[in-house]
Amino acid sequence: MIPYSCQDLNEDDIRSVLRVLRSDFLTQGAEVPAFEKALAASCNAAEAVAVNSATSALHLACLLLGVGPGDRVWTSPISFVASANCALYCGADVDFVDVDPRSGNMSVEALADQLVQAHQKGTLPKVIIPVHYAGQPCDMRAIGKLAQRYGVRVIEDASHALGATLEGCPVGDCQFSDITVFSFHPVKMITTGEGGALVTNDSVLAERARALRTHGITRAPERVDDIDQEPWRYAQVELGFNYRMTDIQAALGQSQLGRLDDFVLTRRQLAGQYIDAFRDTPVQTLWQSPDSNSSWHLMVVQVSQGIRSEVFRLLRAANIGVNVHYMPIYLQPYYRQLGFNEGYCPAAEAFYRQVISIPLHVRLTPGDQRQVVEAVISSEASAAGSSN
Ligand SMILES: *Cc1c(COP(=O)(O)O)cnc(C)c1O
Repeated sequence: MIPYSCQDLNEDDIRSVLRVLRSDFLTQGAEVPAFEKALAASCNAAEAVAVNSATSALHLACLLLGVGPGDRVWTSPISFVASANCALYCGADVDFVDVDPRSGNMSVEALADQLVQAHQKGTLPKVIIPVHYAGQPCDMRAIGKLAQRYGVRVIEDASHALGATLEGCPVGDCQFSDITVFSFHPVKMITTGEGGALVTNDSVLAERARALRTHGITRAPERVDDIDQEPWRYAQVELGFNYRMTDIQAALGQSQLGRLDDFVLTRRQLAGQYIDAFRDTPVQTLWQSPDSNSSWHLMVVQVSQGIRSEVFRLLRAANIGVNVHYMPIYLQPYYRQLGFNEGYCPAAEAFYRQVISIPLHVRLTPGDQRQVVEAVISSEASAAGSSN
């Protein structure tokens, strides 16, 4: 099976992990701060806070922006469930903004309409979470402008988009958002096994995130000294979690981050070859904005209407490890039970019905890629033929 995605670890990556295993600190040593510094620098953010997953980073990001019971958070239905679950962790309500059918990203027009209506009804969200689907940045300039007009905060779910650029600037610089979140799961752009991070330009938010990831504990002297001045003192100042990343993970992260530019370059070349191969075929690739460069986390193709399931079955039978990203989140049983139904975001549902993620990763060989292209084209033709 040619997988849709997989990690690429080289000997340097492995040596960096061994170095930590042989050192004094497996966690809470020097590696996490060093990884954070490198990550912040790579995306032009002032601060990075590494945690044990992007899911944890999204949860902390919502808490940092004050999301709580009675608040509303809006996200994209075409995402992993974590983009919405983070709001529910905080006791808030989730709603969804329909997508742009060309890209699968949150539609700026749909967002503008929904904000006008919510403003009239007094139901504006506290936070919106656009998701950079497949690695292509959302139109953050437009989303940021709308958010500012209505006094809404913004968290970018950039789990797919480490290494992507928007208007020539790296995703994560938070020019149009409060916080950006990355994932380091093995299928994502770089990996730490499990892991994630949030980046921000607000040092107060970053300090609070560092406390929240370790039980709400701080050793900041001004917080400790008002109790007593003993050298062993630490202060739990709010209710936090154990969301810490280990030094083992952070060492791998530093090594992988050093390879990010190569990863993006390889993915971009492979994606370009897919786009060329599917030109003038019924298989469509996603529209790419001229204002951005995708990180190409996913290679998503759209097949003809009504045949996606059959094409998917044929590809799996041909040992191509295809996947589907994503069924609209609100169609999950848990969300249906909260009251969401079919037809809620028509563009997202139509998008979902036609997409297949085909293999794209840095270990994909030219021979594998040719095999994938041929299988996709012949499966589409055969499924279209038998459906007529
Ligand atoms: C992978 C992913 C997450 C969650 O990442 P973890 O690190 O596995 O918690 C969140 N949002 C999106 C869009 C993702 O693809």
